[in-house]
Amino acid sequence: MNKIKIHLAIAIIGICAGAGLEIILSKFNNPNGRLIFLSVGQGDSILFQSDNYNILIDAGPHYQSEKKSTSTIIQTLRKYGVKEVDLFIITHPDMDHIGGMEPIHSRYPIKKIALNPCFKSSKKLTQIFNNMHYSQKNIFWIKDEGIVQTPSFQIKLLNPCKQFFNKRNSKNDSSLYTHISNGNSSATLTGDASSISELFNITKIKDWKSDILKAGHHGSRYSTCNRFLRRIQPAYIVFSCGRNNPYNHPHPNIIQKSKKHKILSYRTDFQGDIVFLSTPTGFRYHP
Ligand SMILES: [Zn+2]
Repeated sequence: MNKIKIHLAIAIIGICAGAGLEIILSKFNNPNGRLIFLSVGQGDSILFQSDNYNILIDAGPHYQSEKKSTSTIIQTLRKYGVKEVDLFIITHPDMDHIGGMEPIHSRYPIKKIALNPCFKSSKKLTQIFNNMHYSQKNIFWIKDEGIVQTPSFQIKLLNPCKQFFNKRNSKNDSSLYTHISNGNSSATLTGDASSISELFNITKIKDWKSDILKAGHHGSRYSTCNRFLRRIQPAYIVFSCGRNNPYNHPHPNIIQKSKKHKILSYRTDFQGDIVFLSTPTGFRYHP
């Protein structure tokens, strides 16, 4: 098992063939974490801030308004004090997750990128990296697992890809998994993975119990199965989706299932940005 560690803002260490890679974040200021599910229409973009670091998981679509006139994520990131993105985690290269990358990078430099090597051949990604003139040396390919360490939080990345790539719906099920934790506050994000991927990985995420779960694939009925919910045991579930989207996300079955498990749910289409603050007793919703 290859384990990559990403140290932000310090030299990358521990790189050797077949071993691992480490990305370290070293700035220190505010140890309290803030996790924000940005309202980006039909797509995902989640901002995690801690110790003055900005980690962005996905970038939403290029245009967040139906008029397709503006990329509102630029204004949104400014609102949360983002001046640069220390690490950008790409779950998978669908445009509702990477469409906002170029506009973001043009305004707030993306210093490092972590993603699944199964997507090395993605034409869309290659085009975007070329347009961004992005240096390959700042891209971290998470072959198996990755660890990102800030002074206060550890972020685990899990690549479920080998089993799914080249199979039906492989891109969604190859979504990189992210687990954010400081021992008190925790969250799990799985991109657009379906329950096939959730169940396959269930033994690898034994310690991923979390306060917050982002519903897989915007609340599709093919994600967020009961066994996965019992493993994560979230207090909160977040649906990142566009208002009146044509996919019927989130599916009523998943909303119902959340209620049955007594999980509080939030939706970006109705509530806009969803903000959680870390506290000594876990992440708490911050209206
Ligand atoms: Zn998606």
